[in-house]
Amino acid sequence: MPTSPSAAKAATKLLSVDEALSRILSQIKPLETTESPLLEALGSVLAEDAAADRNVPPFRNSAMDGYAVRGSDVGSAGARLRVVGSVAAGAVPDRRVDAGEAIRIMTGAPLPDGADTVVRVEDTDNGTEMVTITRSTPTGMAVRQAGEDLRSGEVVLRRGAVLRAAEIGVLASIGHARVTVHRRPNVAVLSTGDELVDITEQPAPGKIRDTNRYSISAAVRATGSAAFELGIAGDDASDLRHSLGNAAFGDMVVTSGGVSVGDHDHVKPVVDAMGAMDFWSIAIRPGRPLAFGHLRTKRGDVPIFGLPGNPVSALLTFELFVRPALLKMAGHTRLHRPRAMARLLDRIEKPSGLRTFARGVYDRDAETVRATGPQGSGILRSMSLANCLIDIPEPLAAVEPGTDVTVVLTDLPEDH
Ligand code: AMP
Ligand code: MG
Repeated sequence: MPTSPSAAKAATKLLSVDEALSRILSQIKPLETTESPLLEALGSVLAEDAAADRNVPPFRNSAMDGYAVRGSDVGSAGARLRVVGSVAAGAVPDRRVDAGEAIRIMTGAPLPDGADTVVRVEDTDNGTEMVTITRSTPTGMAVRQAGEDLRSGEVVLRRGAVLRAAEIGVLASIGHARVTVHRRPNVAVLSTGDELVDITEQPAPGKIRDTNRYSISAAVRATGSAAFELGIAGDDASDLRHSLGNAAFGDMVVTSGGVSVGDHDHVKPVVDAMGAMDFWSIAIRPGRPLAFGHLRTKRGDVPIFGLPGNPVSALLTFELFVRPALLKMAGHTRLHRPRAMARLLDRIEKPSGLRTFARGVYDRDAETVRATGPQGSGILRSMSLANCLIDIPEPLAAVEPGTDVTVVLTDLPEDH
């Protein structure tokens, strides 16, 4: 209980969402770099510039199946040329092309010296001794120049690049079998509460299934990080201490439940004993209580988030606070989901003074958004039906249909 008016004021002072996030991010550092086999680096962040070791493509080659010729010979339809050879992909031409000559060539095969143009087989009579060109073909047609994709020595990907399938392909084409990336976080996920049973068990009277360990572990994996599950800790300090002892092997710990002000909320004091925990009351609905701190370990401090227990609050505070922190740890520089403006179709009531994130369905074509029905913090369906969060500023008590609102596009990757 606060004992003085100033203590009472301090206790009721709510942290804004933005203040909480910037406090968190200021304490998170990118993990060290590591060398990874190329394909395992999918989703990781490149930690070194990558330069091409040679031109891609390495030699001038044909973009079509057809005939390698001199452009000056095929400027008009009806030209007849002598076929003097053939070259397949992977082979090298055994002679040059002179005026009045053609070499049959397959897609990807090196262009013979003397040739500067490829006539598509469809634009010929497909002859084997002599070939008739049936359509005039401009000089340079269907020829891919050496280095037109990547130039030897050129930096083709900068450090900080997120490795998607296309970047993995670029790195493969410059021969990087291993790449230097930021190590991916390994996140310990722990549920707390005497009422929880694992989903493989039948809940006895008074018990419920542990939803959060699954939703939070899935949300961790969706960032590209690894989750290791530590099961359920009871509402009991020694149980919690034991679980957090194992959790401290991770790069980050995420717990849910036990951070309210109930009689059995042990997370904060136990973490305080093992490191330090700030307990924040954030001006947010849902998800008001959030604890953030660190566990002290031999390897250094391990950040820990104590998320509220209600399944919507847990997943929503993960999205808003833990996800950007994890991305930063993994070396990402884009930490925020894209946003858009949309016309609200429903009326949404909210407590004034709390920034509210209602779960919504955003229609990109119509530029509208509607809420996903009942928004209670235990109604997880409100999140599974949603593709966005409707971000309603603190001061408002309600938003009327037709109002322009900001939506956070939680289905899209971070873009700033
Ligand atoms: P707490 O934050 O521990 O006070 O929990 C708030 C509410 O969330 C209570 O109704 C809990 O039963 C529920 N809850 C806590 N943890 C979980 C969980 N892992 N899965 C499902 N519900 C939970
Ligand atoms: Mg609890």
